[in-house]
Amino acid sequence: MEVLIEQIAIYGSVVLLCGLVIFFYMRSLSKKSAIVEKKVAKAKEEGMFEPVSLHPYIDLNTCIGSAACVADCPEKDILGIVDGKATVILASNCVGHGACFHACPVQAISLRIGTETRGIDLPHVDQTFETNIKGIFIAGELGGMGLIRNGVEQGKQAMQNIASAKKPKADGVLDVVIIGAGPAGISATLEAKKQGLASATLEQDSLGGTVYTFPRSKLVMTSPMDLPLYGKVKLFDTSKDELLQLWRKVISEHKIEITENTKVDAIVPQKDGTFKLSTSVGKDYICNNVLLAIGRRGTPRKLGIPGEESTKVAYRLLEPENISGKKIIVVGGGDAGVESAMLLMNDNEVLLVNRNENFAGIKPKNREAVTAAIDAGKMKAVYKANLVSIAPDSVLCKVGEDTQQLPNDLVYIFAGGELPTGFLQKAGIEITKRFGHIVKKHK
Ligand SMILES: Cc1cc2nc3c(=O)[nH]c(=O)nc-3n(C[C@H](O)[C@H](O)[C@H](O)COP(=O)(O)OP(=O)(O)OC[C@H]3O[C@@H](n4cnc5c(N)ncnc54)[C@H](O)[C@@H]3O)c2cc1C
Ligand code: SF4
Repeated sequence: MEVLIEQIAIYGSVVLLCGLVIFFYMRSLSKKSAIVEKKVAKAKEEGMFEPVSLHPYIDLNTCIGSAACVADCPEKDILGIVDGKATVILASNCVGHGACFHACPVQAISLRIGTETRGIDLPHVDQTFETNIKGIFIAGELGGMGLIRNGVEQGKQAMQNIASAKKPKADGVLDVVIIGAGPAGISATLEAKKQGLASATLEQDSLGGTVYTFPRSKLVMTSPMDLPLYGKVKLFDTSKDELLQLWRKVISEHKIEITENTKVDAIVPQKDGTFKLSTSVGKDYICNNVLLAIGRRGTPRKLGIPGEESTKVAYRLLEPENISGKKIIVVGGGDAGVESAMLLMNDNEVLLVNRNENFAGIKPKNREAVTAAIDAGKMKAVYKANLVSIAPDSVLCKVGEDTQQLPNDLVYIFAGGELPTGFLQKAGIEITKRFGHIVKKHK
């Protein structure tokens, strides 16, 4: 009898212990779920729940809540787990590099562009990357496929297709002009050289494309990429500087020229089957083929005022930590302008020029932060204000009816961007709005 009682006691303790472990485990899961749910609610409130470009789509029937995607995503709070299933949180911040796609052990994630409610314009391309206009090809993120490796692969393949359909050469006519020098454009440029094509590469900004503008230096590449004239690049966890250096090295070793600070304004098909490209520097190019590798980020909108071409004017903020002791004008009361002004305000004298009368249209978090910064005197702001002209050491600014001359060292302009849609349509390229278009899924 005593033995039986002892056994029941042991059995009871084990059950109790297991029960307690399960109870505390469930309680901790439920606490974590509640935290993520709160973050989701806040993201929705702040307009950050809707993805802007390529993003993970989670199949809830397949998801087992392993959280491998959460662990592998290098960005903060884009994914989380609620009640044992993955969910997106700050989907607007997703950069679409797909680390989560590869991490999921049960292949519950696909990468999509656009959502059921928010369509994204995608140009039509066939399997050779050619658009409905014969001779105009598209590679990289513009066609809906994000990631550095994908851009490199598509740039190479598109150029191989251009080379295989080589058209007869006429004097002064290039085989191909590559527009954009991001991962896709660089790879296409190298492949053009390898194929012996007469080509030119035109970049409105700097070599590297979106990679050049990354705010963080760490890069993620989930598999090796095959760079023409170089071979396999096995940089899985690398920095943007290392990748840019590699690209520059290969380009200079093969004596290739990439023309920076040259925007292509228009592509006009000619009667003889060639294309005439007009550029921001006044030079025209005639070519048999065009490869568009212009990404999806568009072109920063300019103000069109005297002095804007000065070297003290910039349209994006790189390495704010290296700027100090300057008098800086930041133009733009949108999120980009406000965020940049706040990054600069601690080490510089910042004046934010807002053409609106307040910050009504921006993310609530930014609105609160910028209002607090202005109230605390950390930066100044003028409203209903527009820059009139930019001189070497000052600017003219119209504030209401009053025009003021303000001493100044640097000007940052965040007046929005012109998306490439209009540029493509003018060239005759067909575009369709896609809602939740699957770009990558497991077979
Ligand atoms: C913050 C951030 C982090 C990311 N992290 C990663 C990562 O870790 N790993 C990864 O694989 N991917 C990452 N990505 C995604 C990756 O950067 C892009 O998918 C990739 O750069 C797309 O390459 P692309 O060549 O198609 O276009 P882009 O890199 O966007 O290059 C297009 C180029 O075309 C130029 N251009 C545009 N219009 C014109 C014109 N009219 N005339 C001349 N030039 C023009 C632009 O100035 C630009 O330089 C990240 C993206 C962001 C925003
Ligand atoms: S695509 Fe990249 S940034 Fe977006 S959720 Fe997946 S791992 Fe994070």
